[in-house]
Amino acid sequence: MEPIVVVGGGVIGLCVAHALHRRGCAVTVVDAGPARAAASHGNAGWIVPSLSGPVPAPGLARVSARWMLRPDSPLYVRPRANPGFLRWLVAFWRRCNARDHLAGLEATAALNRRTMSLFDALRADGVAFEEHRDGLAFVYHSRHELARDHAALAPLRPFGYDAPLLDAQAMRELEPALTRAVVGGYRFPQERHVRPDSLVTGLEARLRRGGVDLRTGVAVTGIEHRDGRVSALATTAGRVAAEAVVVCAGAWTPAVMRLAGVRVPIEAGKGYGLDYAPPPALPDPIRAPLYLHEARVAVTPLAGLVRLAGTMELAGLNGRIAPRRAAAIAAAGAASVRGWPTDPSRATVWVGFRPMTPDGLPVIGLAPGFGNLAVAGGHAMLGVTLAPATGEAIAALLTTGRAPDVILPFDPGRFGGHRRAR
Ligand SMILES: Cc1cc2nc3c(=O)[nH]c(=O)nc-3n(C[C@H](O)[C@H](O)[C@H](O)COP(=O)(O)OP(=O)(O)OC[C@H]3O[C@@H](n4cnc5c(N)ncnc54)[C@H](O)[C@@H]3O)c2cc1C
Repeated sequence: MEPIVVVGGGVIGLCVAHALHRRGCAVTVVDAGPARAAASHGNAGWIVPSLSGPVPAPGLARVSARWMLRPDSPLYVRPRANPGFLRWLVAFWRRCNARDHLAGLEATAALNRRTMSLFDALRADGVAFEEHRDGLAFVYHSRHELARDHAALAPLRPFGYDAPLLDAQAMRELEPALTRAVVGGYRFPQERHVRPDSLVTGLEARLRRGGVDLRTGVAVTGIEHRDGRVSALATTAGRVAAEAVVVCAGAWTPAVMRLAGVRVPIEAGKGYGLDYAPPPALPDPIRAPLYLHEARVAVTPLAGLVRLAGTMELAGLNGRIAPRRAAAIAAAGAASVRGWPTDPSRATVWVGFRPMTPDGLPVIGLAPGFGNLAVAGGHAMLGVTLAPATGEAIAALLTTGRAPDVILPFDPGRFGGHRRAR
C-alpha cells in the first residue's frame, strides 16, 4: 500500500498527518520550504474559538473601501487588474452581510467545538509545545463599537461563550498595563495561546518519532491522475506514489490544486508580526493576550517575548515588509499599553500569508470530481485554532470514505472549481 501524501508541512498539514498517523495510516509529508512566509511560524498563536466569525462581516465592505486608500489601515487591498483577484474581491464584498456572516460563524464554531480537548489530546500524545491558558481580553477605545460588538456576541452563547461588558476601570483591574484611552471591553477566560513555531516543531518531532516520512525542501510540481483518482505526485525530488493526497499548502493551495485542474480561490492575506524580545520594560507588564479592536492588533505575551501581530494586506504572494505598516502596529500598541514604544525599530519584523477564501471559510474535503484528492486550506486568521479539528475531519474522511457532517459547509466544490478533462 502506498502512503497518503500530505502536501505542505504547516500547522494544518502536520495536524492532518498526525491524525492520519494516529489512525494507523502510512503518511508522507512533503514541504517545499521551510518557507519563511508560511503563516504557521510567526503568527499570534491564539487558540480562539470565540473568533469563529468569518472575515467578511456586515459593514466591512464599506469600511474596507475607505481603508483601501490608507496603506497603514488594518485591511489594505492593493488594486490589481488580475481577473481572478477581482472575482475574489467581488465575491468577498458580497459576503459582507449579516446572513452569510452568521452562517459562517455557526459552521466554524461547530468545527471548533472540540478544539480545546483536541489540543489536550495532542499534548497527551507526546506533542511538546509552549502553551498558556490566560484567556483573551478584547480592548476598545470606542464605546459605540464596544456596545455593538458586545451585543453581536449572542450567536456565540450556544457554544459556551458569554462575557459581561467591562468598563474602563474593570479592564484596568484585569490588565493594569492598559492606557486611559481604553473605555472598556470583555474577556473570554477559556481561550488559550501557544508559541506557534513550538507547535510546528513539536508536531514534526512527534511525527518523526512515529516513523512518518517528513521531507522538507521538496516542492510538488505535478499531480498524476486519471478518472478522478490520483496515483502519484511529481516533485523536485522525483515521483512520489500515493494512495491518496491531501493538499495543505496554505496560501499556495491554488497553485498546487491547479496541477490537478481544480480551482480553489485563495488569496494571500499578508500579516505582520513584531517580536519584542526581551519585552520592553513597562510600568506594568502585560499579563495576558489582548485584542486591540480598533487597530485589529493582537498582543501576545510568550516566554521571553511579546508579539504584536496584525494588518491584512491583499497584495498577492509578495513578502515585502512595508515600514509604514510595522510602525502602525507599534503605534497601536502604544495607544493601548502604557509605556509601549512607538518606534518599531526594537522589534524583529516577520510577515506571513494567511490563506483567505472569499467567503472567509476554510476549504476542507474532497476536491470536486476526485475520490482520493483532498484539500485542507483557507483557514484565514484561524489556522492554528482549527488545525487539530481539521486534521481529525480529514482523517475521518479518508479512513471511512464519508465526510463528517461538521465539514460539509467547507466543501471545496462550493466554488464550482471543476476538474479539467485529461
Ligand atoms: C500575522 C498573523 C497572525 C495570525 N494569528 C493567528 C492566531 O492567533 N491564531 C490562529 O488560529 N491563526 C492565526 N493566523 C493564521 C494562521 O497562521 C494560518 O491560518 C495557518 O498558519 C495556515 O496554516 P497552513 O498550514 O494552511 O499554511 P502555511 O503555514 O502557509 O503552510 C503551507 C506550507 O505549504 C508549503 N508549500 C507551498 N507550496 C508547496 C508545494 N508546491 N509543494 C510542497 N509544499 C508546498 C509551504 O512551504 C508551507 O510550509 C495568523 C496569521 C498571520 C499571518
